[in-house]
Amino acid sequence: MSTIHSKKSHEFLKDVDKITRHDKTFWGVRDKRDIMAMGLPEWEDLRELASRIKMHTATHLADYLDKFSKKLESRGVTVHWAKDAEEFNEIVLGILKDHNAKKLVKSKSMLTEECEMNPYLEKNGIDVVETDLGERIIQLMDQKPSHIVMPALHISRDAIGEEFERRGISKEIGNHDPTYLTRCARYHLRDEFMKADAGLTGCNFGVAETGDVVVCTNEGNADMSTSMPKLHIVAMGLEKIVPDYDCLAVFQRLLCRSGTGQPTTTFTAHFEKARPGAEMHVVLVDNGRSDIIASEEHWQTLKCIRCGACMNTCPVYRRSTGYSYTYFIPGPIGVNLGMLKNPDKYFDNVSACSLCLSCSNVCPAKVDLGEQVYKWRQQLEEFGHESSVKKWMSRGMSMVFNHKWIYNSALWWSPMANHVPKFLMYSKINGWGQGHEMMRFPKKPFHVLWKKGKVK
Ligand code: SF4
Repeated sequence: MSTIHSKKSHEFLKDVDKITRHDKTFWGVRDKRDIMAMGLPEWEDLRELASRIKMHTATHLADYLDKFSKKLESRGVTVHWAKDAEEFNEIVLGILKDHNAKKLVKSKSMLTEECEMNPYLEKNGIDVVETDLGERIIQLMDQKPSHIVMPALHISRDAIGEEFERRGISKEIGNHDPTYLTRCARYHLRDEFMKADAGLTGCNFGVAETGDVVVCTNEGNADMSTSMPKLHIVAMGLEKIVPDYDCLAVFQRLLCRSGTGQPTTTFTAHFEKARPGAEMHVVLVDNGRSDIIASEEHWQTLKCIRCGACMNTCPVYRRSTGYSYTYFIPGPIGVNLGMLKNPDKYFDNVSACSLCLSCSNVCPAKVDLGEQVYKWRQQLEEFGHESSVKKWMSRGMSMVFNHKWIYNSALWWSPMANHVPKFLMYSKINGWGQGHEMMRFPKKPFHVLWKKGKVK
């Protein structure tokens, strides 16, 4: 175990029941996604179209953003531009201060996680209340999201019930029924909505032609966050722009089917302007996205629509949980985004991939996730983070495969490995042996049997 990821996942794997539940739950979501995909004969065409739309938009980003912002401004919406996380946080705080806002209710936004907005606002005296149920649970438990769509799925209902009891959110001690707990959370949040001075939402898609901010949720919390307070702030990454409604329809058909296996999210809100007597601000955030467009090898990560499907299908994610990764977004897309953010800090995660490419095959926008992880691995030496053991092993393998006589001798002697004592094979000094079952080498190699006509 040479990486932080492997060490952390080793700890999680000790709780067999928990990790099995985690694995099964996310595989169940992947199953639902498959059923949805198979229900649409044009599924693969939609994926291809989505990928092309994203490529087109990324290469015409400035034009579409200009169109989008002008449309919003023509309806009285204030548009702000933030070059990085720091500027984004300052802009949001500035808007809140201008309105003397003390309490902010917000719906789920991975961009605000990326910019570490909550701790920044809290440090500056703002009471930030997450209103997505999963996000609220982890906020109350002082944890981080472990998945981008289902951030608290790793927490058991008993742990949630006990937390709600401690905080007085649920009154019936010992009642950990999910419907009851959800109802309690609903009453608790309703109170927060009523008292809030401002509401913040993310943005799943920004439609350039019409200037719509489209927000998809399953709980209606974005709608509540924007209909109670009179101030609405939108946090939007530059890559969320789509050209028009036709393109939006393609993504709408893919997003929820891929992410949760539902035909659509329960709520889809289109915000075009502030309601009478209210104000709406849209903050467009770059924070490294322009640099990603410039990367010939890795720009495709910008096609991501944050559905989470690549995590649900990833065998490493399912068996190691989101907390094993060092970047705040886990799974295949997180491995790649972390490397784009800071390879020196997040290089460790590239080992958390079996290169099965299941992620690339389910991604609705056809992001070539596994292929990019492979490219990052090849760049590790350039970053000065290659594993010396793996480097020597690769050199050894290269020598074996490039010299016929070494290869044949290795095959000839390989059955000797069948006699390595178990205490050595599965000891701590052999990391590979942990969690692996040693295969038995046949007495004679395949090509010898083939030549003798013993295999057909
Ligand atoms: S990379 Fe693809 S599968 Fe993964 S979250 Fe993004 S859109 Fe979904």
